[in-house]
Amino acid sequence: MSHKIKKSDAEWQQELTPEEYRVARLKGTERAFTGAFYDHHEPGMYTCACCGQELFSSDSKFDSGTGWPSFSAPAGDDSVATATDSSHGMVRSEVVCSRCDAHLGHVFPDGPGPTGSRYCINSVSLKHRPED
Ligand code: FE
Repeated sequence: MSHKIKKSDAEWQQELTPEEYRVARLKGTERAFTGAFYDHHEPGMYTCACCGQELFSSDSKFDSGTGWPSFSAPAGDDSVATATDSSHGMVRSEVVCSRCDAHLGHVFPDGPGPTGSRYCINSVSLKHRPED
């Protein structure tokens, strides 16, 4: 795994757009059906908007109907980390970038594929790098 990236809130705030900062650093959520990637079908790699780490391949992307980009698995075993999130009266599994701890979204055990996982991710926490 690549080494950790640690920056102060002030540094992140300077580098990111206000919406990226709100979602990725303050654990916000973009409104459903408003992000750049929920209805995005170009092949390529989705990377971390904060640090550029490869997070999800388009190969694992599926249409969940939720209004957020959804993936059956991360790009690599060490791409993301999970943590228990007990906010909003629910117990959910938060998904973060393993390198810079950016908040990405949540993972649920109701995915359609062989993994059975649904990584429900905010578009604004991602960038897309087209194939080739
Ligand atoms: Fe990151």
